[in-house]
Amino acid sequence: MQIKSAVFVTSARGIADCPAWDRPEFAFIGRSNVGKSSMINLLSNKDSLAKVSATPGKTRLLNFFLMNDTWSLVDLPGYGFAKAAKHEKFDFNESAGDYLEQRENLRRVFVLIDSRHPPQRIDVDFTVWLGGTGRPFSLVFTKVDKQSDAKTEANIALFQETLARSLVLSPEVLTSSVKTRDGRQQILRAISHSLGA
Ligand code: GDP
Repeated sequence: MQIKSAVFVTSARGIADCPAWDRPEFAFIGRSNVGKSSMINLLSNKDSLAKVSATPGKTRLLNFFLMNDTWSLVDLPGYGFAKAAKHEKFDFNESAGDYLEQRENLRRVFVLIDSRHPPQRIDVDFTVWLGGTGRPFSLVFTKVDKQSDAKTEANIALFQETLARSLVLSPEVLTSSVKTRDGRQQILRAISHSLGA
Protein backbone atom coordinates (compact mmCIF):
# COMPACT_ATOMS: atom_id res chain seq x y z
CA MET A 1 0.00 0.00 0.00
CA GLN A 2 1.17 3.49 -0.79
CA ILE A 3 0.23 6.30 1.55
CA LYS A 4 -1.01 9.17 -0.53
CA SER A 5 -2.56 11.25 2.19
CA ALA A 6 -2.45 11.37 5.97
CA VAL A 7 -4.34 14.02 7.90
CA PHE A 8 -5.18 14.62 11.52
CA VAL A 9 -8.95 14.51 12.03
CA THR A 10 -9.82 14.80 15.69
CA SER A 11 -8.96 13.90 19.26
CA ALA A 12 -11.46 12.04 21.41
CA ARG A 13 -11.66 12.04 25.19
CA GLY A 14 -13.47 8.74 25.20
CA ILE A 15 -15.54 6.30 23.23
CA ALA A 16 -18.50 8.67 23.19
CA ASP A 17 -16.74 11.33 21.15
CA CYS A 18 -14.92 9.10 18.68
CA PRO A 19 -15.74 10.03 15.07
CA ALA A 20 -19.20 8.98 13.91
CA TRP A 21 -17.96 7.35 10.76
CA ASP A 22 -17.68 3.83 9.44
CA ARG A 23 -13.98 4.00 8.53
CA PRO A 24 -11.99 0.91 9.47
CA GLU A 25 -9.61 1.81 12.29
CA PHE A 26 -6.14 0.52 13.15
CA ALA A 27 -4.84 1.39 16.59
CA PHE A 28 -1.25 1.83 17.78
CA ILE A 29 -0.30 1.52 21.42
CA GLY A 30 2.79 0.94 23.55
CA ARG A 31 4.60 2.31 26.53
CA SER A 32 6.05 5.74 26.35
CA ASN A 33 9.34 6.02 24.41
CA VAL A 34 8.76 2.77 22.53
CA GLY A 35 8.90 4.64 19.22
CA LYS A 36 5.19 5.10 18.51
CA SER A 37 5.43 8.67 17.22
CA SER A 38 8.38 7.75 15.02
CA MET A 39 6.40 4.80 13.66
CA ILE A 40 3.34 6.93 12.87
CA ASN A 41 5.54 9.43 11.03
CA LEU A 42 7.27 6.62 9.16
CA LEU A 43 3.98 5.03 8.10
CA SER A 44 2.57 8.34 6.95
CA ASN A 45 5.80 9.59 5.33
CA LYS A 46 5.33 12.81 7.24
CA ASP A 47 7.86 14.15 9.68
CA SER A 48 5.46 15.71 12.07
CA LEU A 49 2.13 13.96 11.88
CA ALA A 50 2.47 12.40 15.32
CA LYS A 51 3.44 15.75 16.80
CA VAL A 52 -0.26 16.46 17.00
CA SER A 53 -0.67 13.69 19.55
CA ALA A 54 2.21 15.01 21.63
CA THR A 55 0.90 18.54 21.96
CA PRO A 56 -0.05 19.55 25.50
CA GLY A 57 -3.46 18.24 26.44
CA LYS A 58 -3.52 15.60 23.74
CA THR A 59 -1.29 12.90 25.18
CA ARG A 60 -4.19 11.40 27.14
CA LEU A 61 -6.55 11.53 24.18
CA LEU A 62 -7.34 9.14 21.34
CA ASN A 63 -6.00 10.82 18.21
CA PHE A 64 -7.53 9.95 14.85
CA PHE A 65 -5.77 10.33 11.49
CA LEU A 66 -7.39 9.65 8.13
CA MET A 67 -5.16 7.78 5.71
CA ASN A 68 -5.72 7.68 1.94
CA ASP A 69 -9.22 8.98 2.59
CA THR A 70 -10.10 5.41 3.47
CA TRP A 71 -8.95 4.14 6.83
CA SER A 72 -8.04 5.64 10.16
CA LEU A 73 -4.86 5.32 12.16
CA VAL A 74 -5.66 5.76 15.84
CA ASP A 75 -2.89 6.85 18.18
CA LEU A 76 -3.84 5.60 21.65
CA PRO A 77 -2.43 6.89 24.93
CA GLY A 78 0.30 4.56 26.19
CA TYR A 79 0.17 2.35 29.21
CA GLY A 80 2.28 2.63 32.32
CA PHE A 81 2.42 1.26 35.83
CA ALA A 82 -0.39 1.98 38.24
CA LYS A 83 1.27 4.31 40.73
CA ALA A 84 -0.73 3.39 43.77
CA ALA A 85 -0.86 -0.34 43.18
CA LYS A 86 0.74 -2.57 45.78
CA HIS A 87 1.86 -5.01 43.13
CA GLU A 88 3.09 -3.85 39.78
CA LYS A 89 0.18 -3.88 37.41
CA PHE A 90 -0.27 -2.27 34.07
CA ASP A 91 -2.49 0.72 34.07
CA PHE A 92 -3.75 2.61 31.12
CA ASN A 93 -6.03 5.33 30.17
CA GLU A 94 -9.61 4.24 30.76
CA SER A 95 -10.78 5.63 27.44
CA ALA A 96 -8.13 3.57 25.62
CA GLY A 97 -9.43 0.49 27.45
CA ASP A 98 -13.04 1.26 26.51
CA TYR A 99 -12.00 1.92 22.94
CA LEU A 100 -10.14 -1.39 22.65
CA GLU A 101 -13.00 -3.32 24.19
CA GLN A 102 -15.95 -1.63 22.53
CA ARG A 103 -15.16 0.24 19.34
CA GLU A 104 -16.89 -1.48 16.42
CA ASN A 105 -14.73 0.11 13.72
CA LEU A 106 -11.51 -1.23 15.22
CA ARG A 107 -10.01 -3.86 12.91
CA ARG A 108 -6.55 -4.52 14.33
CA VAL A 109 -4.28 -3.31 17.10
CA PHE A 110 -0.53 -2.90 16.72
CA VAL A 111 1.22 -3.28 20.07
CA LEU A 112 4.67 -1.72 19.98
CA ILE A 113 7.36 -3.32 22.11
CA ASP A 114 10.99 -2.23 22.48
CA SER A 115 13.08 -5.04 20.97
CA ARG A 116 16.14 -4.14 23.05
CA HIS A 117 14.80 -5.62 26.26
CA PRO A 118 13.87 -9.07 27.47
CA PRO A 119 10.12 -9.34 28.19
CA GLN A 120 8.89 -6.51 30.41
CA ARG A 121 6.06 -7.45 32.70
CA ILE A 122 3.99 -4.44 31.72
CA ASP A 123 4.07 -5.35 28.00
CA VAL A 124 3.24 -8.97 28.75
CA ASP A 125 0.33 -8.03 31.05
CA PHE A 126 -1.09 -5.61 28.53
CA THR A 127 -0.78 -8.11 25.67
CA VAL A 128 -2.48 -10.83 27.71
CA TRP A 129 -5.29 -8.41 28.56
CA LEU A 130 -5.64 -7.46 24.89
CA GLY A 131 -5.71 -11.13 23.91
CA GLY A 132 -8.64 -11.53 26.29
CA THR A 133 -10.66 -8.94 24.36
CA GLY A 134 -10.58 -11.18 21.27
CA ARG A 135 -9.29 -8.32 19.09
CA PRO A 136 -6.95 -9.20 16.24
CA PHE A 137 -3.54 -7.75 17.04
CA SER A 138 0.09 -7.77 15.92
CA LEU A 139 3.20 -7.26 18.00
CA VAL A 140 5.70 -4.84 16.51
CA PHE A 141 9.19 -5.06 17.99
CA THR A 142 10.69 -1.62 17.48
CA LYS A 143 14.24 -0.21 17.21
CA VAL A 144 15.79 -3.37 15.77
CA ASP A 145 18.67 -1.34 14.32
CA LYS A 146 19.94 -0.78 17.86
CA GLN A 147 21.32 -4.29 18.39
CA SER A 148 22.25 -7.50 16.60
CA ASP A 149 19.61 -9.60 14.91
CA ALA A 150 20.50 -12.44 17.27
CA LYS A 151 19.67 -10.28 20.31
CA THR A 152 16.39 -9.16 18.75
CA GLU A 153 15.43 -12.72 17.92
CA ALA A 154 16.28 -13.91 21.42
CA ASN A 155 14.15 -11.18 23.02
CA ILE A 156 11.23 -11.94 20.70
CA ALA A 157 11.47 -15.67 21.40
CA LEU A 158 11.44 -15.01 25.15
CA PHE A 159 8.42 -12.75 24.79
CA GLN A 160 6.56 -15.39 22.80
CA GLU A 161 7.41 -18.06 25.36
CA THR A 162 6.15 -15.85 28.17
CA LEU A 163 2.93 -15.11 26.29
CA ALA A 164 2.32 -18.75 25.49
CA ARG A 165 1.80 -19.40 29.21
CA SER A 166 -1.30 -17.20 29.14
CA LEU A 167 -2.52 -17.02 25.56
CA VAL A 168 -3.68 -19.88 23.40
CA LEU A 169 -3.14 -18.11 20.10
CA SER A 170 0.23 -16.62 19.26
CA PRO A 171 -0.05 -13.19 17.66
CA GLU A 172 1.61 -12.14 14.44
CA VAL A 173 5.08 -10.71 15.12
CA LEU A 174 6.69 -7.91 13.10
CA THR A 175 9.92 -5.99 13.57
CA SER A 176 10.59 -2.36 12.80
CA SER A 177 13.21 0.30 12.57
CA VAL A 178 12.58 3.89 11.65
CA LYS A 179 16.24 4.14 10.68
CA THR A 180 16.11 1.47 8.00
CA ARG A 181 12.32 1.76 7.40
CA ASP A 182 12.17 -1.94 8.19
CA GLY A 183 8.66 -3.08 9.04
CA ARG A 184 6.81 -0.24 7.31
CA GLN A 185 5.63 -2.32 4.38
CA GLN A 186 4.76 -5.27 6.61
CA ILE A 187 2.50 -3.12 8.77
CA LEU A 188 0.86 -1.56 5.72
CA ARG A 189 0.44 -5.01 4.22
CA ALA A 190 -1.33 -6.24 7.37
CA ILE A 191 -3.63 -3.22 7.11
CA SER A 192 -4.27 -3.81 3.38
CA HIS A 193 -5.03 -7.41 4.11
CA SER A 194 -7.56 -6.47 6.73
CA LEU A 195 -9.12 -3.92 4.36
CA GLY A 196 -9.44 -6.67 1.76
CA ALA A 197 -7.48 -4.50 -0.65
P1 GDP B 1 7.06 7.45 21.69
O1 GDP B 1 7.18 8.05 23.05
O2 GDP B 1 6.62 6.02 21.76
O3 GDP B 1 6.23 8.24 20.73
O4 GDP B 1 8.55 7.36 21.11
P2 GDP B 1 9.32 8.25 20.03
O5 GDP B 1 8.84 7.95 18.65
O6 GDP B 1 9.30 9.68 20.46
O7 GDP B 1 10.78 7.63 20.14
C1 GDP B 1 11.52 7.67 21.33
C2 GDP B 1 13.01 7.75 20.99
O8 GDP B 1 13.42 6.56 20.32
C3 GDP B 1 13.34 8.89 20.05
O9 GDP B 1 14.59 9.42 20.42
C4 GDP B 1 13.42 8.23 18.68
O10 GDP B 1 14.27 8.90 17.79
C5 GDP B 1 13.97 6.86 19.04
N1 GDP B 1 13.53 5.82 18.11
C6 GDP B 1 12.27 5.48 17.81
N2 GDP B 1 12.22 4.47 16.94
C7 GDP B 1 13.50 4.15 16.66
C8 GDP B 1 14.14 3.17 15.80
O11 GDP B 1 13.51 2.36 15.12
N3 GDP B 1 15.50 3.16 15.81
C9 GDP B 1 16.25 3.99 16.56
N4 GDP B 1 17.58 3.89 16.51
N5 GDP B 1 15.70 4.93 17.37
C10 GDP B 1 14.35 5.00 17.41
